[in-house]
Amino acid sequence: MSTKYVYFFGDGKADGKAEMKNLLGGKGANLAEMSNLGVPVPPGFTITTDVCTYYYDNGKKYPNGLDAEVKESLKKVEEVMGTKFGDPSNPLLVSIRSGARQSMPGMMETVLNVGLTSNTIKGLIEKTNNERFAYDAYRRLITMYSDVVMEKSAGIEPAEGMAIREQLEHELEKMKKDRNVQADTELTAEDLKELVTIYKKKVKDTLGKDFPDDAMEQLWGGIGAVFQSWNGKRAINYRKIEGIPDEWGTAVNVQTMVFGNMGDSSATGVAFTRNPATGENVFFGEWLPNAQGEDVVAGTRTPNPINEDGKTEDTKHLDSLESKMPELYKQLDAIQKKLENHYHDMQDIEFTIQDGRLWMLQTRTGKRTGPAAVRMAAEMCNAGLIDEKTALMRVKPSQLDEFLHPMVDPEEEKTALELAKGLPAGPGGGHGMIVFTADDAAEWAKKGKQVILVRNETSPEDVHGMHAAEAILTAKGGMTSHAALVARGWGKCCIVGCSALDIDVASKKLSVNGEVLKEGDWITLNGTKGRVYKGKLPLVEPDLERNEFYSSLMNWADKHRKLGVRTNADSPADAAQARAFGAEGIGLCRTEHMFFDPKRISAMREMIVAENEENRRKAIMKLLPYQREDFMGILKAMEGLPVTIRLLDPPLHEFVTLDDKQVKELSAELGIKESDLKARINSLHELNPMLGHRGCRLGIAYPEITEMQARAIFEATADLTSQGVKVFPEVMVPLVGSSNEFENQRELIVKTADEVQKEKNVKFDYLVGTMIELPRACLVANEIAKTAEFFSFGTNDLTQTTFGFSRDDIGGFLPKYLDHKILPEDPFQSLDQNGVGQLVAMGVDKGRQTRKDIKIGICGEHGGDPASIDFCHRTGLNYVSCSPFRVPIALLAAAQAAIEND
Ligand code: ADP
Ligand code: MG
Ligand code: MG
Repeated sequence: MSTKYVYFFGDGKADGKAEMKNLLGGKGANLAEMSNLGVPVPPGFTITTDVCTYYYDNGKKYPNGLDAEVKESLKKVEEVMGTKFGDPSNPLLVSIRSGARQSMPGMMETVLNVGLTSNTIKGLIEKTNNERFAYDAYRRLITMYSDVVMEKSAGIEPAEGMAIREQLEHELEKMKKDRNVQADTELTAEDLKELVTIYKKKVKDTLGKDFPDDAMEQLWGGIGAVFQSWNGKRAINYRKIEGIPDEWGTAVNVQTMVFGNMGDSSATGVAFTRNPATGENVFFGEWLPNAQGEDVVAGTRTPNPINEDGKTEDTKHLDSLESKMPELYKQLDAIQKKLENHYHDMQDIEFTIQDGRLWMLQTRTGKRTGPAAVRMAAEMCNAGLIDEKTALMRVKPSQLDEFLHPMVDPEEEKTALELAKGLPAGPGGGHGMIVFTADDAAEWAKKGKQVILVRNETSPEDVHGMHAAEAILTAKGGMTSHAALVARGWGKCCIVGCSALDIDVASKKLSVNGEVLKEGDWITLNGTKGRVYKGKLPLVEPDLERNEFYSSLMNWADKHRKLGVRTNADSPADAAQARAFGAEGIGLCRTEHMFFDPKRISAMREMIVAENEENRRKAIMKLLPYQREDFMGILKAMEGLPVTIRLLDPPLHEFVTLDDKQVKELSAELGIKESDLKARINSLHELNPMLGHRGCRLGIAYPEITEMQARAIFEATADLTSQGVKVFPEVMVPLVGSSNEFENQRELIVKTADEVQKEKNVKFDYLVGTMIELPRACLVANEIAKTAEFFSFGTNDLTQTTFGFSRDDIGGFLPKYLDHKILPEDPFQSLDQNGVGQLVAMGVDKGRQTRKDIKIGICGEHGGDPASIDFCHRTGLNYVSCSPFRVPIALLAAAQAAIEND
């Protein structure tokens, strides 16, 4: 059988169906499906995407036989409609519509009213008894056709302001001025007739060709233009962004025109089977009486609400379709219900009413907000329309983000004064008074004030201020800068790289785009969009726990997922937050942040600059009570759940980056000569600290650090155990590359545990394991697993060391790498499954060879990235761990991974 190029639809039957999207495009497949369902669709036919492929492969020629198939289908349409294409007494008019597999809204062309010529217009006038309407349709055809077919698809690039569409619109304006009228609708039939003559002359003068006066020529011109538009600049760019392959091609739909602008019994509209913003199960839409479809979408006229339910304060005075045309509304309502029941998903539909008769022009799966996606999935599942697995797959994990943060009230945002734009580093909204230093932020916050910390950039020393602030705004830095990372971890609103800010810390002022703001002035940030506003805009709070739809979805996720989900948390508050979101333990509790607290940092510094073990031990033991208290808090917050605590990891130099004044103070405090102190600090300086004296290398050189930390963990464990609180600490040794390193530290830890159990006379359970974050650790995982009771993949460092990229310096070259497609994406955001992933898989394999049931997790940033979570599921990890605000995302992604892979 030869290939079929053209598929007919209409009159309750169709050659195609919804499953044929690849061949017929989304629009064509759904027009066929609606016809098969008996929904009224203006009859027409679809030319397949294969023809588009052929067209581009064969020097823009059509395959043999296409012509005959088009004629045959056209004849079927004519029979159904009782009209004839190109017939002067009873003409058929058609639209020519593009339609790719995946919807590309507004990216390709549509031509309406094709088939109108100086001959056929007579028939249209006679049939409609409406000369004005006929000439209005004609002048619209000339505008669209000359623009789309004769200019754009011919590759003509007119000079600024000289595009044919603009020139014709100019003529229209001229005529309106001349006739002294305001609206197009005030022009008479005679006016429009004259305008058509002017248009035709303008087309000839500008493009050097006559406007085609033959229906068939128009038809083929329109079809060619749609195929051409697949390779228009707009479409190419859109495909790049959306990742749509160039090979797919578009289909062309030729469809009988129906007119919503034939008088008061005609109308047009766009609607959703449920509310796309809230997800509420009410039919929701807009319509316009006596109008063409374009008028609703283009926003040239303010549309009316489709029904009484959809009315708001602003639209309550407008007529609804429900009240104006109750019979037709009932029909439309029945059709929308039928479509949703059939597709089992929310539909976005277009309709037109011509002279009291309803026609459906399009249906497709509607786009929706995060909260709407969750509500629809839950309600459809509860109603039996879809099953749990489908419901879980309906929500993109990233859409849950919208639930977790307070947002700037979108209504107020519309009219707010925008000061500047930056990079959207931490989602949600925040408002507060400007402060310029971390100390001020902490101090003001303590007094109960809401503040926004505004800095050129942030350093680890600013964390107390960052934590105290409602939101963070920096002039410099990118999406992976310190401020951005920390803020995201806390789920805090943050904008970085806001280069319009000119900050003067000394005088506590900033200027931005001509505005001068000082300390204490209110600003509002939208961290999801990277927008800074003047003043205090109201925020709307998320309320997850009370959202029954979210709860249902998360219950189903728990049922279907195999991966555990833990959190990375360093404080009891974060731990409690994550637990409320559903975290099943802590996968990474970093201990170094705890040392930056002003009360502790001096003991830490004393420890670091100590000349000998005795002094070092004395200093570090000052930290013991603080650490014990920290661990008490965290272990308690995670009662009944495991808590992985990592021993000190960063190079010591990070704790002693001091300016001259601070050196002076410290030397006085410790009674060390300033020059000696400086020399000691300088001696800690490393050329390459990321690969320097850090991780387990610290505990090996200074065992007293490990002893103190282990003691703090176990004393807290012993005390809580005696109080009847069930806790499960897991002590994690960082940056291990050989089993000897691990053994060295493990012995210390176990010895300390024994001592504490004896001293306190309590028995408790604990594990000792390691972070796998060096390639060598993956290679010898079988040896490490001999004594290590768990592994946690630290994929941040593992990515750094596998690629040999320094994460802090990647900003210099990553953008180029992404531009040139040398890397598909930032490997610090989404795990490099091809490379780093092999090491992870090897580590898992080798670890389990030695210790069959070794517990394995991941605690890098990747633990909250859906694609990486899918990888973790496939690789057989036991759990992923991520920042508290990513826990819901990870829970859903884990369920999706189980559904997709098993
Ligand atoms: P897009 O894919 O950009 O939405 P469409 O092919 O849906 O483009 O066409 C745009 C608009 O043109 C439609 O919303 C509808 O109002 C109008 N239209 C298209 N075909 C017809 C038709 N056969 N009869 C009446 N209006 C039509
Ligand atoms: Mg459309
Ligand atoms: Mg690390």
